[in-house]
Amino acid sequence: MASDYISVELRKLVVDRASKRCEYCLIHQDFSIYTHEVDHIIAVKHGGETSDDNLALSCLSCNRHKGSDFATIDQITKEIVPLFNPRRQVWDEHFSLENAIIEGKTQMGQGTAKLLQFNVPNRVLERQVLVSQGQYP
Ligand SMILES: [Zn+2]
Repeated sequence: MASDYISVELRKLVVDRASKRCEYCLIHQDFSIYTHEVDHIIAVKHGGETSDDNLALSCLSCNRHKGSDFATIDQITKEIVPLFNPRRQVWDEHFSLENAIIEGKTQMGQGTAKLLQFNVPNRVLERQVLVSQGQYP
């Protein structure tokens, strides 16, 4: 099995590339209580590599809800839907921001927003405060 060890250099690359923002919900490290984590987009146990192409910066909330998942089930169509991949997709094409609520614009966006629980009340409230201070997105 491949190693999930992330070197200091690789971590710095991921953090800098993301401009310290969670690449899923866009919250900035400076306004997050917990330190953002480096997420394996495809988990090592599924064959994902520890390379910059498979890593994304993630806030603790997004990373905890994502876990080692890379897909979810659409609740209406029951189809398997891949999760948003920050290395392959563009955020604005799959999500839109409506008053601090992150709406999925596509099946992938909707599935990711639901699984990662972008819009639970405490996270929306946190974003509303940041929006009012000009600190989000
Ligand atoms: Zn996040």
